[in-house]
Amino acid sequence: MRILVAEDDTASRLIIEAAVTSLGHECIKAISGEEAWRLFETVDVDVVISDRSMPGMDGIELCRRVRASNKDTYTYFIFLTIFDERADVISGMEAGADDYLFKPLDAGELKLRLHVASRVTALHRQLFRQAAELEQLNRRLFDQSRTDSLTGLGSRLKLNEDLDAIYAQLERYGRSYCAIMCDVDYFKAYNDNEGHLAGDRVLQLVARTLLSTCRNGDQIYRYGGEEFLILLPEQDLEAGLVAANRFRQAIQEIAIPHDGNPANGIVTISAGVASFSEPENKSIEGWLTEADAALYRAKQAGRNRVETHQQPSAVPEPSSKPSLVDIRTTVT
Ligand code: GH3
Ligand code: MG
Ligand code: MG
Ligand code: MG
Repeated sequence: MRILVAEDDTASRLIIEAAVTSLGHECIKAISGEEAWRLFETVDVDVVISDRSMPGMDGIELCRRVRASNKDTYTYFIFLTIFDERADVISGMEAGADDYLFKPLDAGELKLRLHVASRVTALHRQLFRQAAELEQLNRRLFDQSRTDSLTGLGSRLKLNEDLDAIYAQLERYGRSYCAIMCDVDYFKAYNDNEGHLAGDRVLQLVARTLLSTCRNGDQIYRYGGEEFLILLPEQDLEAGLVAANRFRQAIQEIAIPHDGNPANGIVTISAGVASFSEPENKSIEGWLTEADAALYRAKQAGRNRVETHQQPSAVPEPSSKPSLVDIRTTVT
């Protein structure tokens, strides 16, 4: 073990050093409490053997500081002193000492006490190691439970947590959000034709494509089996509609062959868009239900298309420019 000896008396210091080194330990010496504290702060030590009475910082203060330090190793503290009254021992132990020895030093006694010190510090080391491993495991578990294992996107748990935060933001700062609920078209048929594993690969590819198409700040979650939810901060319904069509287009462009899609023979998605800006109007559940209802209408209307919950206000009327249907529907 590495042992720090704090002793202002030269002769005593030499005796302790000789005893410590003859027992096979490394000895670091300090001639005052201050020097011992400086050394303690810079070097890892297993044991401190300290005098009680020293000019400046005494042994009691040194002991208190050692105990209060938040090093990730345990330091075993032994007083070696001429103060041998019961009250002295009690006050020493109350300051945080593990053991108390009286001068003159008995080398055999020291050997026994260091034996205990070695056992205690080893136990503490093991405890610290296990605590660190547990913390790392917890962190990994935390991340894993918030990540969908197939696609690497946010999980439902992550979504629920984020939705709570979003609702708080909506209430406090009046921010607006847009939700895009996406669903792969005719996906059951894809599984039936190509097998479940091939289906999994499609879900991964769809997820990657959505991720590479989204903008900074957008969040994408795996909402269910072949359903994905995209949340766009600070976006109204019109912006959400444009974004949803961008996602839909991106999936269409990778053109994964899908014989079970009667419309075009490739994998496509449908999407429903709903915005949320005034919390007093609805709940988070109500908002997602709106996006879901819009998605349902997109499915009903033929798939590979985007529908919004309400008519976006800035979208021109059918009479003037391209119709709503033209903008929302891009079936190829
Ligand atoms: P629609 O166009 O109306 O959405 O039809 P659909 O066939 O996509 O919808 P349906 O709800 O009938 O089928 C969804 C399919 O998604 C059925 C299910 O086996 C599949 N699915 C769900 N999760 C997974 C998954 O993790 N991997 C694979 N390969 N398939 C999945
Ligand atoms: Mg002294
Ligand atoms: Mg589907
Ligand atoms: Mg579905």
